[in-house]
Amino acid sequence: MSQVSDWPPNSLPWAEPLERRLHQLIEAGRMPHAICLEGPAGVGKGIVVERLIGMLLCSDLQPSGPCGSCAECLLLRAGSHPDRIQVVPDTKTGRTISVDAVRALIERISMRPQRQGAQIAVLTPADALNAASANALLKTLEEPAQDSHLVLICADPARLPVTVLSRCLRLVLNPPSADVAIDWLQRTGSDDRSLGLALELADGRPLLALGAAQGGRLTEWEAAIRQLAALQSGRTGIVESALSMAKSPDASLEVLQRVLEAALDLALGGSKFTRLREQLHLTSQVEESTLQSVWLRCKRARQELGSGLRDDLSLASLLLGVAGALRWQAVG
Ligand SMILES: [Zn+2]
Repeated sequence: MSQVSDWPPNSLPWAEPLERRLHQLIEAGRMPHAICLEGPAGVGKGIVVERLIGMLLCSDLQPSGPCGSCAECLLLRAGSHPDRIQVVPDTKTGRTISVDAVRALIERISMRPQRQGAQIAVLTPADALNAASANALLKTLEEPAQDSHLVLICADPARLPVTVLSRCLRLVLNPPSADVAIDWLQRTGSDDRSLGLALELADGRPLLALGAAQGGRLTEWEAAIRQLAALQSGRTGIVESALSMAKSPDASLEVLQRVLEAALDLALGGSKFTRLREQLHLTSQVEESTLQSVWLRCKRARQELGSGLRDDLSLASLLLGVAGALRWQAVG
């Protein structure tokens, strides 16, 4: 997030209560040694942490956050602040934060900060700690180095040992309401027409919706929805739709999952996914148990993408399942 043109990043409206709390802790000199920021991917945890680092290091902290122009802020802006440490998964496996990486971190923060203030290590995603590296981290959580802070960013806290979590101040960033998210998306200059749909398909997570709208994923999602609508109305057949959807199989499977979730939500009396419902004329007349089993098959198919199976064949089979679960009469 440390792009030169955009530092400090603007605060996110739904993160403001959380940010106020962090601000108060810093001003009172009571910032805990370790915090774990939890929340689903695409909700803005990275922005919150970037602003937190700014608040901890800025030498002229304002009520609104980091000043953006002191020497510390300028170093952060340039991505070259020596006391900001990032610990990420091993580049070879890409999956785990290795025990060596944690040991190197501990050694580094046992030394004094290179500048006047604190040093801050961000472990992201902290879910990538394995048993050995989490265990190595415990030592520094128990005996923190002076003027150091550890920030764990984590989508799935259940994957972290309780011994680690219990030594952190645990904070949660949840997705905002749809209204707040749409308002924010509009202010980013995104195309109004598709925002609501993008947000539904991104499961209510605004940064994911924004990324989809800007990166072309939304176009793939919309193409998949058009194919489903054509299939539902009988304008195309299973094979034709499957072939078309196999052009972007992951996005298509994601849409199938959301459509099944939308149908289940409706069947259970929920009120989410209004745009998906409209576009596909979803009704509450569904086979609930089939919905769930087809959803699981879609999830598995996404995990198996690229394993050599033909995407169009697996999509054809899933489309049959979806049409059956949703009782689409036109699909024969
Ligand atoms: Zn500053």
